[in-house]
Amino acid sequence: MTPQNTGRPQTKLSLRLFKVVMLSACFIGIVLSTIQIIFDAYNSGHAIDTEAKQMLSMVRDPATRAAYRIEEEMAVEVLEGLFEIESIQYAAIVHPDQKPLAEMSRPFSKSRYRRISDQIFDRSRIYRTPLTAEEPYPDYFGDIVIHIDTAYYGRNFIRRGIVIMLSGLVRAATMALLLYLIYSLILTRPLNRMIRNLSKIDPEHPGKEQLPYLKGHRNNELGLWVRTANQLLRAIERNFNLRQKAEAQILKLSQYDYLTRLPNQRTLQKHLRRLIKNNSKQPQRFAILCIGPDHFTEINAQYNFHTGDHLLVKLADRLRDIAGNGVYTSRLGGDQFCMVQPLEQPAEAAELAQKILRDLGKPFDTVKESITIEASIGISVFPDDGHCVEELLQQAEAAMLLAKSRRNLRYQFYIASLDQEIRERKKLEADLHHAVDHDELHLVFQPQVKFSDHARIIGAEALLRWTHPEKGLVSPDIFIPLAENSRDIIAIGDWVLETGCRQLHDWQQQGYRDIVLAVNLSAIQLQDDELPDRVAQLLKKYDIAPHTLELEITETSLINDVERSCRQLRAIKDIGVKLALDDFGTGYSSLSYLKRFPFDKVKIDRSFVDGLPENSENNVIVNAIIQLGKSFKMTVLAEGVETLQQEQYLTCQECDEGQGYYYSKPVSPDAFESMIRDQNREYGNG
Ligand code: C2E
Ligand code: MG
Ligand code: MG
Repeated sequence: MTPQNTGRPQTKLSLRLFKVVMLSACFIGIVLSTIQIIFDAYNSGHAIDTEAKQMLSMVRDPATRAAYRIEEEMAVEVLEGLFEIESIQYAAIVHPDQKPLAEMSRPFSKSRYRRISDQIFDRSRIYRTPLTAEEPYPDYFGDIVIHIDTAYYGRNFIRRGIVIMLSGLVRAATMALLLYLIYSLILTRPLNRMIRNLSKIDPEHPGKEQLPYLKGHRNNELGLWVRTANQLLRAIERNFNLRQKAEAQILKLSQYDYLTRLPNQRTLQKHLRRLIKNNSKQPQRFAILCIGPDHFTEINAQYNFHTGDHLLVKLADRLRDIAGNGVYTSRLGGDQFCMVQPLEQPAEAAELAQKILRDLGKPFDTVKESITIEASIGISVFPDDGHCVEELLQQAEAAMLLAKSRRNLRYQFYIASLDQEIRERKKLEADLHHAVDHDELHLVFQPQVKFSDHARIIGAEALLRWTHPEKGLVSPDIFIPLAENSRDIIAIGDWVLETGCRQLHDWQQQGYRDIVLAVNLSAIQLQDDELPDRVAQLLKKYDIAPHTLELEITETSLINDVERSCRQLRAIKDIGVKLALDDFGTGYSSLSYLKRFPFDKVKIDRSFVDGLPENSENNVIVNAIIQLGKSFKMTVLAEGVETLQQEQYLTCQECDEGQGYYYSKPVSPDAFESMIRDQNREYGNG
């Protein structure tokens, strides 16, 4: 409790006030009384003189007569008369020669006051008056002398003085008391009440309750005080609230990401540390899922940062919805998010990852555009993969990067061998950068056949091969994602297009005019605005009929920016080049793609052809794709045909074309050329 609330200081103040007032009043009382006493002393002195003169004048005549007649008896009588008056101590009638005719005296009064009064009036006062005859004979007969004992006057004077002093003091004290009472009634008590009211104010909410006005004091200074205090309390409350809000805001900013309102990396690390600490009391396995949208930098470049930010906010909202109870969601920074999921079994992490990928695959409506993204997820598991927060996070991130670089793998659990793999991938990515310049790339060609024409080769798909100086042949499934990641795919893709066109030109020169060459295009290439012009330029340069070139695009390349993809494909289509939708069925298999985009051909992914005709599930899918393609008047090609049974089944289902090891693996240009040469010879012979 603060000292103001004890009630004691007010008492102290009153006491002090009382003392000051009392002492001041007493001092003033003493001073005034002293002045009055001094004045009285002055008056008393005068009174002694006046009385003495009156006495002398009273006895002057008889004394003159006694002196004139020189009658001692008479003189004594006169003196005896005078001695009736108590204050006369000595009296004498003297001759002109100063010899006394008669004299009388008595002892001085033994008054106890005289020690003081003698100081003021002297011990005795002597008065003398000459005894003379009346006019016209003013003869001098001697003097009458009296000595006045001042003790009698002094006693009265001192008694009066005491009364004056005491009454003065009592008066002053009474006034002081009265003043004190008035003061305490008008000021101290209301002040005490105000202090009591003030002490009831809740310091946490000073503005919540107002101080009440004291009765009768609304319009005076006390009322003003209460009003001002109330204003002050309200202002304090306001400032307090503002400060609290600001503090909460600062705390939130330091713990949460400003954009998505999700906990930031620091808060996530704290959360993980707590989980790991609690693990000693109550063992709990948990998974860390590192989630990152693919090609986010391109999305930012393609639209603008505002759209990118908006997309991140929407993405965070969706992750929050997916997470539900028990799963902790946070933003790691940049375009990466993290979820912490308590686990019974590691399989639960895979289920969550699949759910996230499914939900993130639905289009996001940002301010202007509808954007569809793909994401990759890396997963590390505590305590299996490590016990250190930083290590677990790094592992999850590394696993995510690996997932990003792999085509058909959208989520990846951390495994110890991953670190080495990631390092190798980075090295591979760096090596790939020089592959074009170092002449390490070449194309192989896989024939495509027409079922209705006895499986005659009608074209080929150009497939890229990279011969690494140390590792030898590297699969495009490994290096194409790396090239996409580093954007080297633009240069590499251009090399493929040019080499393919040159090869097609050679074949056409040799008379194989109807051969159609299919070239794969990456999603990154599709974003390049110069692509249609480049294609037209190559067709012109190598004098190729546009319809003999076919560009293959996977479904997933289209979804990043549907509008732009559509524009690009139409521009290419306008040149006369054919378009094929590659790997159909592995992406979103959306009807709207078939409807919106100007495809001439749809290629059934080889995973559906696999197991035909036994696999009934694949039967259904393949049939559906063939029907769908037909209804859109597209040519349908089946990839990965490996057996006669598959070919027979596909032919039965009226699939138009096929491609696969059953006919040929991808081969060198010379081998392909000899294949068509042989075929032509055969047909020619036939
Ligand atoms: P894709 O475009 O779907 O190419 C077909 C892939 O299936 C080729 O693999 C081919 O060798 C393989 N294949 C063909 N028939 C069969 C079969 O009967 N059985 C099996 N098991 N596989 C068969 P490859 O050459 O390894 O290429 C893999 C992927 O790499 C391609 O898939 C394509 O997406 C990509 N790719 C290849 N070359 C290029 C290129 O020049 N540019 C781009 N952007 N991507 C390319
Ligand atoms: Mg292809
Ligand atoms: Mg394919």
